[in-house]
Amino acid sequence: MPPAAATPPTQTPTASKSAPQKAMEKLGLVRDIDLALHLPMRYEDETRLTPIGALREGEPAQVEGVVVDCQVEMRGRRQLLVRLKDDTGTLLLRFLHFYPSQQKQMSGAHRLRVRGEARVGFFGREMVHPVVKVVDDDTPLAQSLTPVYPASAQLPQAYLRKAVASGLARADLRELLPEGAVPRGLPSLKEALHYLHHPPPSASLAALEDHSHPAWQRLKFEELLAQQLSQMQAQRERALLAAPALRGGPGGLHEQLLAALPFQLTAAQQRVAEEIAQDLARPQPMHRLLQGDVGSGKTVVAALAATVAIDAGWQCALMAPTEILAEQHFRKLVGWLEPLGLKIAWITGSVKGKARQAMLDSAASGEAQLIVGTHAVIEDKVRFARLGLAIIDEQHRFGVAQRLALRDKLKAGTGDGLPPAGPAMSTAPLEPHMLMMSATPIPRTLAMTYFADLDVSTIDELPPGRSPIVTKVFTESKRDDVIDKIRGAVTDGAQVYWVCPLVEESEAVDLRNATETHAELSATLAGTSVGLLHGRMSPADKAAVMAQFSSGQMSVLVATTVIEVGVDVPNASLMVIEHAERFGLAQLHQLRGRVGRGAKASVCVLLYTPPLSDTGKSRLKAMAETTDGFEIARRDLDIRGPGEFMGSRQSGAELLRFADLQEDAPLLVAARALAPQLLDAHPAAAQRHVLRWLGTKAEFLKA
Ligand code: ADP
Ligand code: MG
Repeated sequence: MPPAAATPPTQTPTASKSAPQKAMEKLGLVRDIDLALHLPMRYEDETRLTPIGALREGEPAQVEGVVVDCQVEMRGRRQLLVRLKDDTGTLLLRFLHFYPSQQKQMSGAHRLRVRGEARVGFFGREMVHPVVKVVDDDTPLAQSLTPVYPASAQLPQAYLRKAVASGLARADLRELLPEGAVPRGLPSLKEALHYLHHPPPSASLAALEDHSHPAWQRLKFEELLAQQLSQMQAQRERALLAAPALRGGPGGLHEQLLAALPFQLTAAQQRVAEEIAQDLARPQPMHRLLQGDVGSGKTVVAALAATVAIDAGWQCALMAPTEILAEQHFRKLVGWLEPLGLKIAWITGSVKGKARQAMLDSAASGEAQLIVGTHAVIEDKVRFARLGLAIIDEQHRFGVAQRLALRDKLKAGTGDGLPPAGPAMSTAPLEPHMLMMSATPIPRTLAMTYFADLDVSTIDELPPGRSPIVTKVFTESKRDDVIDKIRGAVTDGAQVYWVCPLVEESEAVDLRNATETHAELSATLAGTSVGLLHGRMSPADKAAVMAQFSSGQMSVLVATTVIEVGVDVPNASLMVIEHAERFGLAQLHQLRGRVGRGAKASVCVLLYTPPLSDTGKSRLKAMAETTDGFEIARRDLDIRGPGEFMGSRQSGAELLRFADLQEDAPLLVAARALAPQLLDAHPAAAQRHVLRWLGTKAEFLKA
């Protein structure tokens, strides 16, 4: 973006920044426009005076009077008492904590203006610890409501008020949007900001505080527009990039894989596979999110996409967030694709030495057609000869920074190995196609806001023959009964997961829980093979345990959340989650998705330790009431709100400060309609609008 359009920073970086300056920077208040967009949380009314005689119990008010008396007295404790008088009565000001300087200030004063909550005490009307200002007979009242800003300990309100006022005065608030573009009835940005920072005494505090005032609507509209613009811009930039057009031939790998699969694709799988194939055939990079509930069969869709890329003579990389998952994908893909003659490499952080070098070489030479691994796949040392397609599984588990790294690194055909050859020969570096997969469905308004530059494919049905999971919620006191049930189930040939919670602040405690539970279950279920899986184990040990459980040699697997995503053992039909109240809703749903993958009726038992918080209660209730991932996501959004729901993506930048996706859906729809028109007809204004609102955060929105 052209830096010329940026507003100059309020302060230049120097070594000697004051604490408030640093605190402002931390809040992102760097440019004048940032300050102008830092809006009050609430207001104080210093525009009028209430006669002392008219003060009402418990209501905040400002009064002015003459100091009659000021002294320190012992009334149970030492306190400073000031008596203030106007024509209508007297008011006692009481200070339980005070500095000598305050005492001096007030005893020397003739007239005081004070603000606080009045109450009627034993000695008449009083205010405890009011805000005090020494005034003259003719000190003017405030002309507008006094803003109270989100501040911090290092950033005093008074300092911030001044900084915002001067930022507001200096900022360039020229109208950027063409006539008629803004929804009817909304003020200009400049009017809106001046109004919100300094509302007139007549303003409706209710409309200001619940953000329904037209000035607020304008701000929210602007914010949503900036976000839509930046994402659509990213989408258009992407459309200008070149990618290899990937098309599989008749009788090719794609058809061979379909013929070899032990099952038929569901209609939903066929539909999304077709959507992906159409994208891959275009000479622009695909940027598609494949979402489908846990167990809906995303992996095979990914494998089909890989065969298209490989058939066209390009490489495919598949990245998973954990080693266990990467390894499981590796095995599954080897099982499907090696019989078709494909060469598959495996790259994770734990593969070292010669084996690692061999893998790196085969990726760089183009010998490996499919490269499967953890985020080690995007490390600097890994080079691809001809990367045509990158697939990211469980994309929500990767942070913003990792997604940016991936986007920057993966340029198709720019590896150190063979130059791009054949029909895709081109001078410009080619981008690979990207397919992201997620089992956490994103509700529509969120998808429109956060993923506006993504195309979305949705698998909305499960493979046939799955019996629904029954979820039961018990208190911890039922633990022994649950263990009895496990004994019975294992005798009947069932396999069981027992999940121990992650104690975030202490991996050690976490481990002890899992280890103790493992010992306990091994003892009470004597004669049953009980395994243990946790994050501290070496990858080889983890793989060995998973292999035993997958093959059915092991009946019970005690695990921490390392099994959360993607693990697929269809015979497992019983899951117990201990301290279920400590997990988030999305996480519980992911965990539960490890069972119900085969034909056997599955049960998920949620054990909790009372008392439950309100959100804990609504989470467990949601789990018991539905197994539909989309419904779970909706409820999760209600419980947590959009910021937290989006997790790591959100942490990259404070994305939406003002707009509320549920309440402001009409504004979102309007912004979404305006954005493409603006980009077409007024591209420069669109750029300036994005910069004004997002500054340097704009990059993050494209991740
Ligand atoms: P997820 O979408 O959660 O990643 P997986 O790809 O792991 O789901 O698939 C879950 C299970 O369903 C796997 O064992 C997979 O082989 C199987 N599966 C996938 N598609 C079908 C289908 N169309 N019919 C039957 N089983 C299927
Ligand atoms: Mg999966």
